[in-house]
Amino acid sequence: MTTTLIDEPVLATRKVHIETWGCQMNVADSEKMLGLLQGQNYQLVDTPEQADLIVLNTCHIREKSTHKIMSRLGVLKELKLTNRGLKIAVTGCVAQAEGEKLLKRAPTIDLLMGPGKIDELPRLLEEVKETHRPAVALGFISGRGDHTHETPEEIAKSQAAAFEECQHPVPSLVGRNEISRFVTIQQGCNNFCTFCVVPFTRGKEISVKPPIVMAKVRSFLQQGAKEITLLGQNVNSYGLDLVENGRLTPTADGPFVDLLRELCTIPELARVRLITSNPHDFTFPLAQLFASEPKMGKYFHLPVQSGSDVILEKMKRKVTAADYLRRVQWLRDAVPDMALSTDLIVGFPGESDADFDATLSLVEQVRYHFLYAFGYSPRKHTAAVRFKDVVPEAVKTKRLAALNALQDQITVEINEATIGKTHKVLFLYPSKKKPDCFYGRNAQFQLVQVESKASLVGQELDVCITEANKTALVGTLV
Ligand code: SF4
Repeated sequence: MTTTLIDEPVLATRKVHIETWGCQMNVADSEKMLGLLQGQNYQLVDTPEQADLIVLNTCHIREKSTHKIMSRLGVLKELKLTNRGLKIAVTGCVAQAEGEKLLKRAPTIDLLMGPGKIDELPRLLEEVKETHRPAVALGFISGRGDHTHETPEEIAKSQAAAFEECQHPVPSLVGRNEISRFVTIQQGCNNFCTFCVVPFTRGKEISVKPPIVMAKVRSFLQQGAKEITLLGQNVNSYGLDLVENGRLTPTADGPFVDLLRELCTIPELARVRLITSNPHDFTFPLAQLFASEPKMGKYFHLPVQSGSDVILEKMKRKVTAADYLRRVQWLRDAVPDMALSTDLIVGFPGESDADFDATLSLVEQVRYHFLYAFGYSPRKHTAAVRFKDVVPEAVKTKRLAALNALQDQITVEINEATIGKTHKVLFLYPSKKKPDCFYGRNAQFQLVQVESKASLVGQELDVCITEANKTALVGTLV
């Protein structure tokens, strides 16, 4: 008697397609969702047509984000006509900000989940399956982080869950990023800048405890990562909530610098990067750490938003342009060739020509390696929605073009100055278009392209720069 494979129990694999908008924190959230879904026997697929579950992990930082999601849902709705079992989940900050109103506008949504509720994804999917009704989980992180409401048992349980999570490899959404992985160390923000929706979509600052961060980093390094980017809405204030709640002992340099110092002792870790920060919470000990720890690299993203004190005050940034430049000086005193990047908002309500000139002047003084500039757009819930003296769109467009032109010129000058010099480059991924071509980043975060017959991915090698343009440096192995 023979036994056929048909007699064997078959565990059907389901397929998930994930689309991620916005920042690296959303990428990290999508990877976390993928990890949870893999535990439910889901496999990642490249196109929505192949999927049983489509996840739209959304960002609410720019205007028209809801509009974009609605139009994407309109397209995906068609797939439900041919795939009756298809489920569509909207997650992330648009889900949190718009809430259940979205379900009325888009009945095609099966699951609505805020960024603080990712751990509930398997339960929500089960609920959809059982009830055939949309499942909803909104609100901010609870259990693992909401210290004010946690009981000691809840804390112990949530930390045990976090450690357990570290035992399972968290998948990478993009294979090429395996050398460089994201670890979320902090979520939410207490600053309430008047233009920013983050405190309303991610809640107040909540830090992941240092042992859990260390365990996650070690887990990624065991999977082959060499570079770790620590993520938070405001990494500089990492751990202050833990100190306030008695979970960490206050120290002279503060919990963030302590964490970084501990991370830098891990031999397998080549580089640590940080995204993103607020100059108000940037500390002198952090600047000094760049001088003493080579693994910190020579690059820092320090968002300024405007060069005008009048506008900075209206934005409630809690620093002046001079305060900001002082922090830049701390960094450049610590590491003279420190590369900086920033975020700038052009056309904030009330921004005059003189205010904009102050921004141009600040960019000229700092000489950023690159910057992200956006025309101001009002965000629901924020204080700036009520501000008068709106800057006309045409003026915003003109100012944005002038700012980008100035930065392009600076970037080209900075990049061209590297020609003939040797840089240590950590190679991250092969080119998708050119065979025998690899991309990496140097300590200043500049993109470097090198041709090689053998794979360079994962190696840190000396490269002599031979060419440079606005976006990348080109070099040869030394
Ligand atoms: S510090 Fe950053 S995340 Fe926090 S409110 Fe201001 S811009 Fe938003």
